[in-house]
Amino acid sequence: MAKEYDIAKASGVCSTCERELAGGEEFVAALFDTAEGFRRDDFCKSCWEGRSDEAEKAFSVWHSRIPLPSEPKKPVVNNNVLVDFFEKLDAQSEPAKVNFRFVLALMLMRKKMLIYDGSSDEEGREVWTMHFKSEQAAVKVIRPELNAEQIAEVGTQLGALFEVEI
Ligand SMILES: [Zn+2]
Repeated sequence: MAKEYDIAKASGVCSTCERELAGGEEFVAALFDTAEGFRRDDFCKSCWEGRSDEAEKAFSVWHSRIPLPSEPKKPVVNNNVLVDFFEKLDAQSEPAKVNFRFVLALMLMRKKMLIYDGSSDEEGREVWTMHFKSEQAAVKVIRPELNAEQIAEVGTQLGALFEVEI
């Protein structure tokens, strides 16, 4: 599969003042939707507070914390962050975003947060109808034609963006 998205991994460095974030330090992670794909920038709290323009341009924003040396290396991203990203990908037609949304749907199904209700053919595409466990509203997810290897690749990209096992 062509890599439509180059994803910059989390760096542990503030993208503005270029200071290395310390263990235990809270920071803000933001995803920007650029022509080259989603770019993740991390900001120390004081730099983020001075950049409301960035906050408006960001596709997704979440707060996180650098783990202490005694803690597991990968911080656990809040499920709400993933659900928020999933919902923002609704009605996006770029193939890479359709792929992200579908692979996130699989992950949310594994977490038993999203429930599969059925599939239908809409204009030649397979569309899954689903709902969140806590809500009645139907959620539509396009099923792109991805094989297991491609799904794993998309999962790796998502994992790099969010520092999470997908
Ligand atoms: Zn900074």
